[in-house]
Amino acid sequence: MGFTACAFCDATGETTKITKEHLYSEWINLVLPASVVGPNITVEWTDHVSGAFRTRPVRELASEQVRCVCHRCNNGWMSKLDDQVRPLLEPMILGKPTTLSALDQLTVATWAAMKAAVFEFAWDNPPVYEQADREIIRTQQRPPATVRVALAAIQSQGFPLRAISRGIVGGGRAAQCLTLQIGCLVMQILGGPLAGAHGFHTVGGVRPRHVMVYPPALSGQRWPPTEVHDDASLLASTEPWGGPGGQVSGPRV
Ligand SMILES: [Zn+2]
Repeated sequence: MGFTACAFCDATGETTKITKEHLYSEWINLVLPASVVGPNITVEWTDHVSGAFRTRPVRELASEQVRCVCHRCNNGWMSKLDDQVRPLLEPMILGKPTTLSALDQLTVATWAAMKAAVFEFAWDNPPVYEQADREIIRTQQRPPATVRVALAAIQSQGFPLRAISRGIVGGGRAAQCLTLQIGCLVMQILGGPLAGAHGFHTVGGVRPRHVMVYPPALSGQRWPPTEVHDDASLLASTEPWGGPGGQVSGPRV
């Protein structure tokens, strides 16, 4: 799918090159190479409109791309954010306990919000995040005010990467919960104009399977949480409002 303007800075293809951005960042292939996840990688996804289940083989885990950002954003602040977040995420992806300072949490949450905004362009639903939200991520290096980011841990059977998006619409407003699983790490990003009305905001900090990193905890946050997901409990957690619909995609080995 291609777009003629940058999702983050609004530069158009007339003034700058609109480039492909890896949905899952390319460095993830170095953290979870075929020697770790196995050689037979396929991408599976469910078509939101038809409900059809599709699959195709790929060479590397983090291979999916979407053309939605300009060359300057992709190689500027987005690349810098990837460099900053990688040493923070890598231990968690590999299942090693870690503690995130308030600043670390902000970096992780900003990267997660950036990914949530990019993933929207890979799917065919209208984006939940608005241009102003993406502008805040780009210029202020923080998630928009409606966004909450929680981390969880998983012991999955055969799913090293997964992205599950669930949306809700009400009163002309929308919210989205993106669940992003990378190795042992699960990130849940709830945001959009309707998100503030949801209990995720208040109960998120005390759920035994989640630690909230945005808003950040000043005292630091320890990962993993006290309880770890399996595949079934992860899927059950992707719809915080219990509504219907959604899209699932991700490589399977
Ligand atoms: Zn741009």
